[in-house]
Amino acid sequence: MKAITVLGATGSIGLSTLDVVARHPERFRLHALSAHSRIDALLELALKYRPRCVAVSDQAAAERLRRQFVHHGAAIDVHSGAGALEAIASAPEVDLVMAAIVGAAGLPSAIAAARAGKCILLANKEALVMAGDVFLRACREGGASVLPIDSEHNAVFQCLPAAGNRGGIRRILLTASGGPFRQASLEAIESATPAQAVAHPRWNMGRKISVDSATMLNTGLELIEAHYLFGVTSSSIEVLVHPQSIVHSLVEYVDGSVLAQLGNPDMRTPIAHALGYPDRIESGVTPLDLAAAGRLEFEPPDPVRFPCLRLARQALESAGGAPCVLNAANEISVEAFLGGRIRFGDIARINEAVLDELGGERAAQEVNAVIDLDGRARRAARQVMERQAS
Ligand code: NAD
Ligand code: MG
Repeated sequence: MKAITVLGATGSIGLSTLDVVARHPERFRLHALSAHSRIDALLELALKYRPRCVAVSDQAAAERLRRQFVHHGAAIDVHSGAGALEAIASAPEVDLVMAAIVGAAGLPSAIAAARAGKCILLANKEALVMAGDVFLRACREGGASVLPIDSEHNAVFQCLPAAGNRGGIRRILLTASGGPFRQASLEAIESATPAQAVAHPRWNMGRKISVDSATMLNTGLELIEAHYLFGVTSSSIEVLVHPQSIVHSLVEYVDGSVLAQLGNPDMRTPIAHALGYPDRIESGVTPLDLAAAGRLEFEPPDPVRFPCLRLARQALESAGGAPCVLNAANEISVEAFLGGRIRFGDIARINEAVLDELGGERAAQEVNAVIDLDGRARRAARQVMERQAS
């Protein structure tokens, strides 16, 4: 019986995780769930799945939850405020931590899980992008293990030989759907609306990662994520656009073999893989029917439609603090786009302007320095937007 904490339980990955966990009551016990703003959703999940405790950011929300739990006769502790997420990520009774908070907000709890030696199911790619060295060092020092949840990285992990025998790999091929604007005109992309950008053709995800898929910066962040997870350089990672999202990624070996992992586009597959690892467990995902799928297509990514992909590769190759800077700039530009304050095309321009300004910074070697660099890049992004607006 393994005890699990789900950070970001109300999100798309969090809900899929709870769905898989609930299919295996003999294997998993829910220790804690966290949420940020969707308190009613958290209340409903807690009453349904009965974790030991929950954590929320806001004190008033915590009070409201406590009253509701008393009202429903549910013995569920409520943590809130600074340190609450770290506490549920590092509690001694916890074995597995699903890190599924979106964005830089997920870093401190991921680091806490690493230092406490947990088995981390890592969906929050931003932790690796902004603080790859720091996070991996915390994992080594704490004795934590990391299992990738991002579908591409989970696929690569499944296609790699057992640890300790990593010779003979020529390339990692990360697939990407190309998002909703794969074939759109440059004019249509420039002025795309938030509703168009989040309408992903294959995956049902949170709003931020959906916009990243539309700019293809998601794949850019995934290049950086792959570099840290698998210890490979930029030149051995390639991106392949695959609109059907059935081949989740591939590993090519020096003998010409190419291994791929396939499945329907449903995050419960990588989640179940990591939850059960090394066993295989049921996920609830519909079996893949390749004959019904018919055609599987592949093409190179279009550098003109998707400038963010170039920015990410540039950031990775600069080998310093640039990935952290790019991630922070992008969180600000995507938030402004979703809030209707900038155009879709501005996202790449703002990200590039901030990279030009701060991309030469050295990689931070401590969490506080990462958070400092992240903050400076956010301020720079806001200033670029103010200059554009005036
Ligand atoms: P989402 O927006 O659906 O959910 C985000 C979760 O984070 C929510 O539970 C929310 O309460 C929590 N959260 C948001 N801001 C917070 C803050 N400031 N403090 C504490 N908690 C906060 O996002 P998602 O699509 O589930 O993505 C989660 C992570 O998984 C992201 O890093 C994303 O890149 C990664 N990921 C998602 C998918 C997917 O299919 N959705 C696939 C691969 C990777
Ligand atoms: Mg992915």
